[in-house]
Amino acid sequence: MEIYNTLTKKKEKFEPNEEGKVKMYTCGPTVYHFAHIGNLRSYIMEDVLEKYLRYEGYDVKRVMNITDVGHLSSDADTGEDKMLKGAKREHKTVMEIAKFYTDAFFSDCKKLNIKTPDVVEPATNCIEEFIHMIEELLNKGYAYEAGGNIYFDTSKLKEYYVLSSHNEADLLEGVRDDVDVDENKRNKADFVLWFTKSKFDAQELKWESPWGLGYPGWHIECSCISMKHLGEYLDIHCGGIDNIFPHHTNEIAQSESYLGHKWCNYWFHVHHLNDRSGKMSKSKGEFLTVSFIEGKGYNPLVYRMFCLQSHYRKPLEFDYEIMDNTKTAYEKLKKKISALTEDGAVSKDELDLYRRRFIEAVGNDLNTALGLSLIYDVLKADINDATKLAIINDFDRVLSLDLTRPEPKEDTYSNVTDEELAFINDMLARRAEAKAAKDFATADAIRQELLDKGIAIKDTREGAVWERV
Ligand code: AMP
Ligand code: ZN
Repeated sequence: MEIYNTLTKKKEKFEPNEEGKVKMYTCGPTVYHFAHIGNLRSYIMEDVLEKYLRYEGYDVKRVMNITDVGHLSSDADTGEDKMLKGAKREHKTVMEIAKFYTDAFFSDCKKLNIKTPDVVEPATNCIEEFIHMIEELLNKGYAYEAGGNIYFDTSKLKEYYVLSSHNEADLLEGVRDDVDVDENKRNKADFVLWFTKSKFDAQELKWESPWGLGYPGWHIECSCISMKHLGEYLDIHCGGIDNIFPHHTNEIAQSESYLGHKWCNYWFHVHHLNDRSGKMSKSKGEFLTVSFIEGKGYNPLVYRMFCLQSHYRKPLEFDYEIMDNTKTAYEKLKKKISALTEDGAVSKDELDLYRRRFIEAVGNDLNTALGLSLIYDVLKADINDATKLAIINDFDRVLSLDLTRPEPKEDTYSNVTDEELAFINDMLARRAEAKAAKDFATADAIRQELLDKGIAIKDTREGAVWERV
């Protein structure tokens, strides 16, 4: 396959270190809140990449971390730990928050047909490994202690900005805007490997270390977790584009200083999903989660298809009109496919021909839109139904849109009419009002009225969602 490599800034032939095997690492979620559908765009496209590599016959081992400590409000090591913020917001412990949102993340992934990576490792499981790597970096002269924290010394590197087009001037600019300038740093770009002193002394989880009671920085976890499960040579590392700097830049700096050689050959970055107002956020406006879009009447796989229709290296704007069109297209496609019969023998030649076309499309820097459009060609082609079904099933190993899976009889979302949806939304709004006014009798009556019509309400953190029963 050909893939765009952020490291070399060009499209390159993908060649793993070991023939036939791919070692793949994905930055996992910070589990302080629900993932928004922007985060999930990255995970959908990474899932397609993994499945496509498997489709080409590679034996892929994919590892993902769960960030449950050390990710501060700003990626540049300032502010409060996001996990602690989540715990305070919900009056729970950090570990309770981590468990709840890790489960929520995988439940969202399941709805979007995102395969769980082969290894999933929470950062808090690997404190010993982090300490070991930091000790080695100190021994080799790549790190220093200042004001109780351990920092990586970026001045020791020949080149620090290998991944990004950032330069020292840009960074200084960024730091000037930042109120939390850290006086301990010898160089502006230095980053924290281990904290023992932080403005936020209320840090809930702390561990003994050679430098005192403290906690790891965010960047060290991905280097360590990757090496723990995938060894010293990584083929491909994934994340959203915001991870390029500083997170992935810092991962390369510390990993290669620790190892003494090049670490990862290919860097795959997914561009952001934005809402109309700009960057997607977990705090402002509509918090776009999977349950939220389900509540709006969309099957989560419609969102997967929405993502596959656009190229992962282009910014994508979330738009309800496009979602509606995608929903219609998805339902029509499934209907056409469900009308195919199993009659006839599968033509191996046709299957091979379409497989080659699929590889030409998706193998070209993951052109999923072109891959999807091939399905329409298959449906129109002069070949028997059994062959059509075999080809579509084959493509769906990568696209994962459940194209040949029959809809359940009482499908929640595809059978809803506009009037019915308006009615349900109205009832949900009236129930929310009643609950806000503590009028629980009315709220319960509304719930019962909907239930009598076969609609069950489920209360989630972002509000009520509904499903057919
Ligand atoms: P986080 O949970 O903040 O650590 O982010 C999880 C993943 O989502 C990372 O790979 C981010 O780069 C990615 N990400 C964050 N925001 C967006 C967005 N708006 N669109 C696509 N990916 C995103
Ligand atoms: Zn990471």
